[in-house]
Amino acid sequence: RVVVGKKVEEGHVNWVTAYNMLTGIRFTVSRTNAKMDRELTDADFDAKHKFSFDITGNELTPSAKYDFKFKDYAPWVFRHLRAIFGLDPADYLVSLTSKYILSELGSPGKSGSFFYFSRDYKYIIKTIHHAEHKLLRRILRDYYRHVVDNPNTLISQFYGLHRVKIPYGRKIHFVVMNNLFPPHRDIHQMFDLKGSTIGRDFREEDLASNPRATLKDLNWLRRDKHLEFDARIRQIFLEQLKRDVSLLQRLQIMDYSLLVGIHDLAKGNEENLREATLQVFQPGGEEDDQTPSMLIRTPSRLESARKARELRLTLKKEKPVPMGMVQRKMPSEMSSGDERQFRIFYNYDGGIRGTHEDGQGGDSVYYLGVIDCLTHYGIIKRIEHFWKGLSAPRTQISPIPPQAYGDRFLNFVTGITMTQEEADRRRAQDSRP
Ligand code: ATP
Ligand code: CA
Ligand code: CA
Repeated sequence: RVVVGKKVEEGHVNWVTAYNMLTGIRFTVSRTNAKMDRELTDADFDAKHKFSFDITGNELTPSAKYDFKFKDYAPWVFRHLRAIFGLDPADYLVSLTSKYILSELGSPGKSGSFFYFSRDYKYIIKTIHHAEHKLLRRILRDYYRHVVDNPNTLISQFYGLHRVKIPYGRKIHFVVMNNLFPPHRDIHQMFDLKGSTIGRDFREEDLASNPRATLKDLNWLRRDKHLEFDARIRQIFLEQLKRDVSLLQRLQIMDYSLLVGIHDLAKGNEENLREATLQVFQPGGEEDDQTPSMLIRTPSRLESARKARELRLTLKKEKPVPMGMVQRKMPSEMSSGDERQFRIFYNYDGGIRGTHEDGQGGDSVYYLGVIDCLTHYGIIKRIEHFWKGLSAPRTQISPIPPQAYGDRFLNFVTGITMTQEEADRRRAQDSRP
């Protein structure tokens, strides 16, 4: 599976932060969901609301275990986004409720971000830098439009943007997003691909001690891998990717990756069965081999379903308001949610089954998405580009301007969906004078 799971429970260094994150999410999401649905207004995109939590509670917020401040950004926009992505409001709350502990991936990338998985492994909380936070707020309108217009978008699904702060602590911004990989399927290989080759290598020697590490471009090329799609799927996939990349180019974003998880049908979920509910997480990101690996327990589907039911019941008891936030689904939420069930990427729990060249179904199921899409080509990247450019060819290093970054990315991904024959033909054409 992905990631180093380290259970975050009482006593863990980040317990208080994680607990406050979940308490804040639960409170703000319930608060918005309890209201009648309505159309978004322009002001919804800039909205922010601040709440103070403390042990006694007040007329606005319920009592909490710790004192902290919580800020909720554009709650109506994210409510609509969750509905468009087909999330059930009650399940979302159950997954992120503070009673059930998260697991922490630590900081897998160079960026210093922390990743937390919800207990049922469906959602990821990623702490982000202030600059990324500002960027998401700035692009929220464009992102929203894009998601509405592109039901098959591969770009990360954002479900919430929040900030938490404990007294004397620093402000921690974070997003809630989709886990690209399904909770109940083993991912046998994982690649983070940028279309750049400089420094894009996971040391093959380290693979033995870390067999499920996230591999990179050079590892992919070394294995001569391809995404084996049938012609129709490939066309839909590439056309969608083109639209996604052109949005990112227009927004001056770069440094994103195509995250590819491969489930091998021949291997199946053997390891899951053997270990019952125990699953190992492995780190991804750039320089991650030092992260301790631990076993974490993921609840079974049945267990999650039971908890969802339980929470629905307690919510009903707690809130005797006529328009209960859970039972009531707006027609808009229902229709858009259901539509996405027919997305082409929805079979195999959101994955695409590969096809052999003879047209037969292949052994691989691919889980694909464009992740880490909140880096603006700003001053830091320009400096990095300058320095890295001194020692390596400028088109191969990862921090190049957004237009070129996107073109190179698309070119690479198009290349890996080709058959060997097509790739050879393309190479021959490219080398013709
Ligand atoms: P850096 O900027 O150094 O690349 P980062 O902290 O911004 O790192 P990401 O690139 O977003 O981190 O993600 C690091 C790794 O975490 C990915 O390579 C992948 O293994 C895992 N990961 C990130 N997002 C997801 C997701 N949505 N679903 C599943 N795994 C994810
Ligand atoms: Ca990244
Ligand atoms: Ca990043």
